[in-house]
Amino acid sequence: MRWRGGETSGRIEDRRGLGGGAIAGGGIGVGVLALIGYFVFGIDPATTTQLASQLGGVGASEQQGQMGTPKDEAGRFVDVIGTNIDKVWAQKLEGYQPPLVRIYEQGTQTGCGYGQSAMGPFYCPNDKTVYLDLNFWQEMETQLGASGADFARAYVIAHEFGHHVQTLTGTSDQVRQAQQRARGQGEANRYSVALELQADCYAGVWARNAAAVSNGQVALEPGDIEEGMKTAQAIGDDTLQRRGGGRVSPESFTHGSSAQRVEWLQRGYQSGDPASCDTFGGA
Ligand SMILES: [Zn+2]
Repeated sequence: MRWRGGETSGRIEDRRGLGGGAIAGGGIGVGVLALIGYFVFGIDPATTTQLASQLGGVGASEQQGQMGTPKDEAGRFVDVIGTNIDKVWAQKLEGYQPPLVRIYEQGTQTGCGYGQSAMGPFYCPNDKTVYLDLNFWQEMETQLGASGADFARAYVIAHEFGHHVQTLTGTSDQVRQAQQRARGQGEANRYSVALELQADCYAGVWARNAAAVSNGQVALEPGDIEEGMKTAQAIGDDTLQRRGGGRVSPESFTHGSSAQRVEWLQRGYQSGDPASCDTFGGA
């Protein structure tokens, strides 16, 4: 994708090198569990907090990173893409306010408990912040074969911004309330799936509008959308469960099947309109 000439906003807090430290022990840093945990974009903050406390929490004191546009390429990419996503949403959603973006390594304190890389990229509604460990890109590419290209990374960022939009619109809250009323885990999971698929659809909406809001400075190139589809395919719950050697069990899906993730990314991309992202019809 084309992005190098794109505008930056400097609204990135860089916490890399602050030594957040990974949560010691626990053994979740290895193997199949990690693989699955790793690719759940936008892990539920309740799970995050729960996980941190299960593992005894870690007393990393509140860290202040550096605000601005990171100097390295991977960090600058996040700024350019985030700024572009903000511009799209400023047009699509009245009263849109950008989230904060924090990049970190290994682990860091968040408004939703202790965050660590093994959770994958996530959004915390309590501090309205997108958390990204940029080493995740390499993991994504080596483990999932997401072919090292920029658009797959941008899709992940746009998906997390999608959760921010859901927080602003109140959808996330409504889903949480519906989940509390849900009868059984299967029904609660269906709401999670709808929320995740909507974030995929919102990523598609962004992709469709990226060039228009940047005079073409940020733009998809031939093959990009196919690459996004391949990524969406690779991170579907059924594919991850199969890779984990387990049986595929739709009741336990929290993000949607590969086919669903591809479908909703595509729908958002084709329409370019968030109104086309009503994933809750069947929830
Ligand atoms: Zn998500």
